[in-house]
Order: sequence, then structure tokens, then C-alpha cells
Amino acid sequence: MTTVQDRALHTFRQTFAAEPEGRWAAPGRVNLIGEHTDYNDGLCLPIALPHRTVAAARRRSDDRLVVVSADVAGDPVEVGLGEVAPGVPGGWGAYVAGTLWALREAGHEMGGMDLAVASDVPIGAGLSSSAALEGCVAAAAADLWELALPAPEGSGRGRGLLGTDAGRDHLAGCCVRAENVIAGAPTGGLDQAASLRCREGHALLLDCRDGSTRPVPLDLTAHGLELLVVDTRATHALTDGQYAERRSACERAATALGVTALRDVAPADLEAALARLDEDMLRRRVRHVVTEIERVRACVAALEAGDLAQVGRLFDASHESLRHDYEVTGRELDLVVDTARAHGVLGARMTGGGFGGSAIALVPVGGGEAVAAAVHEAFREAGLRAPQHFVAVAAGGAERLG
Ligand code: ADP
Ligand code: MG
Repeated sequence: MTTVQDRALHTFRQTFAAEPEGRWAAPGRVNLIGEHTDYNDGLCLPIALPHRTVAAARRRSDDRLVVVSADVAGDPVEVGLGEVAPGVPGGWGAYVAGTLWALREAGHEMGGMDLAVASDVPIGAGLSSSAALEGCVAAAAADLWELALPAPEGSGRGRGLLGTDAGRDHLAGCCVRAENVIAGAPTGGLDQAASLRCREGHALLLDCRDGSTRPVPLDLTAHGLELLVVDTRATHALTDGQYAERRSACERAATALGVTALRDVAPADLEAALARLDEDMLRRRVRHVVTEIERVRACVAALEAGDLAQVGRLFDASHESLRHDYEVTGRELDLVVDTARAHGVLGARMTGGGFGGSAIALVPVGGGEAVAAAVHEAFREAGLRAPQHFVAVAAGGAERLG
């Protein structure tokens, strides 16, 4: 079977008739819990997937970017780094060009690059292929151009990617800017942090206010469980306005409540805060965000206490909150979750931005296939396109492959 590394290498050789200087990989992710909290300065809890995007790369002597994707038909995207701007280049090249643009904007001195990318992260499935793409490009640029990245106090500045988590945090911030400013998708920082900073065998508790993280050991097998991921294959486009609408509703609510971000509404003050909002829609959005941040805390505590039944209940509660209060689930995601719940899972919820994309379920080990079969049948009966599924394990963040 051809690996994604091989496809990236092969595509590089075909396009540039040369060898790359190296290959870098960055993973997709599933968020265990903490949805639509990142842009509210909240908490979330992603794991990195074994699915990755690989960039084969070499430096150029001018400041042009030439990038080809093994996953998208068509000619390479070519752009001068000085010309990169919102909408330039358009399409998928924006994620790549935007990443190099953001690194230069952050003050890093670097020239152009030749890149070939290939991915086995399902694209547009809510598993963060966009951050995987940005992450492997940022990793390649950081290593090849030996960018001076922030390092912990007292250790001087680290060169290249792999040294420090502080460096990875900085790169993640550049990837967020690429996605927000150049690709025009107003996402928070969850996806990029997960792709660059996750650790194998762990979930990553991410505080989106200060960027601090804590690895939380995740050994589902030890509890006789596995994590089923179902990609509904329902289209979701984060740029279609719904995501931006949720984000601006949160900003409006925070302004009305006189707080910097909804993170600042303490759970004990929630009822009082809700009473001060006169729009029912805003009240429901706020209730989701505040209770969801609490559910992340509760989920970490439950994982650390080995109380996986409680983790399942929190998954369920998160989905209900996203369904009724935040209104980002949709028919396909609800069907996966309802069907999974009727087939003996500990809990199930949508993951990612919503409106389509993927859902996760906590399932007794070996039971994922049976649950997936029931979901497939439910989709068939509903006349929906067949979903896809896999059992996820917690993999590591971005790395150099050689
Ligand atoms: P998700 O991140 O959930 O997969 P997004 O809509 O955020 O969905 O990002 C998907 C977009 O990212 C694609 O439409 C494409 O523009 C870009 N993309 C992701 N992976 C690749 C790839 N391997 N090659 C080319 N473009 C990609
Ligand atoms: Mg994305």
C-alpha cells in the first residue's frame, strides 16, 4: 500500500524533477470535548489522529511559493510571497501560502519554497485537514529556514520546530492567522494547537486564553473501550457564514455582559448572566459555552479518576447542548449520535465545527464495527450517502519524517 509519505515524495519528484530536502507530517484531530469554546478563550480537549498530511519540501533561492497537492487535481499553485493577501491565492493554496505569509509577518526571515503535499486526513470531514496542511508546512518552513522560535525562559531561542512546545505554540498561532486572514475561515485555535502540540497516548487539555496545555493520559483500552469516529460525509463549509455568525453572537454577548470573553462568566454566575440578556438566542449560545467549558474540566477529572462512564455522560450532554443551545449539529450528526446511543455506547457527540463533519462515540472495545454497521443502516434507511468510520487512537503532533 502506498503511504502518504510516498505519495508526497512521488508528487514532489514528478513536479520538480528533484529530491526534497525533507518531509514533515502534521496530524488531523478529533476534539473529545470543548466545542466552540476556543474562540471564547475557553478550554478544549483534542487528540491527534494517526491520519496525517505530509509535506515534501525544499527551499528556493527566490521568494516564490510553488505547491502541488497529490489530493487535488490541477497545476501547482504559484505565488510570490509578497503578493499573498486575503483571497490571494484563492482555493486550497491559501492555507499553504497563508502559513508562509504569517511566518514572515511574525518577523521570520525566509525565502520561497517548493512543496508537495499529500494527506490521508479526510478533507472537509471536521477532522481538521486544514490545520494538518498548515501544520506540516509550518514545520517544514521552521526546520528548513531554522526559524528562531520562542523557547522556555532561560533556554535561549530554539532553532527549528522540534525543540520546544513554546515553539510549536508560536507556529500554531501563525497557522491560525493563515486560516483566518488569508483563507478567510474564522476558526479559533483548537485545530492548529492539536496538530502541532498533541502527544501520543494523551489528550491535550488546551487553555485557549493563555495557550497553556496539559497532556492528559488516555488509555481507553485499559478501560475496555475504544473511540469510534464516524464521518457523516455531509458537507460543512466553515466559510459559509454559520461559524462566523456563532462567533459574532458570542462576541456580542460578551460585550453585553461586560466581559472580555464568555470564559469570564463563572458557572455560578450563569443564571444571573442569562437574566441580563434579552435575546433568547444569545442566552442559549452563552449557556452552551459556559456549560461546555465546565464539561471539559469535568471530563479531565473523570479521565484522571478512571470514571469512563462519566466521560460518556459528558459526551452526551455536550451533544445535546450543541444540538439545542448552539444549534450546530444537523440531521446527519444527530442521526449518528442517536443511533450510536441506541446501540450500547457510553456516550456520543459531534466533534469539530458541526453542520456536518464527524461524530465520536465511546464504545466497548471491539464494539465499534457493530455500532458503525447500525449507523450505516440508519443512513441507508434515511436515504443518506454512506458515512465512513474508523477507530481512533491518540497519536503524536507534527514531526520531521526525514
Ligand atoms: P477540515 O479542516 O475539517 O478538513 P476545512 O473546510 O477547514 O475542513 O478545510 C478543508 C480545506 O483545506 C479543503 O477544502 C482544502 O482547501 C484544504 N486542504 C486540506 N487538505 C488538503 C490537501 N491535502 N490538499 C489540498 N488542500 C487541502
Ligand atoms: Mg479545518
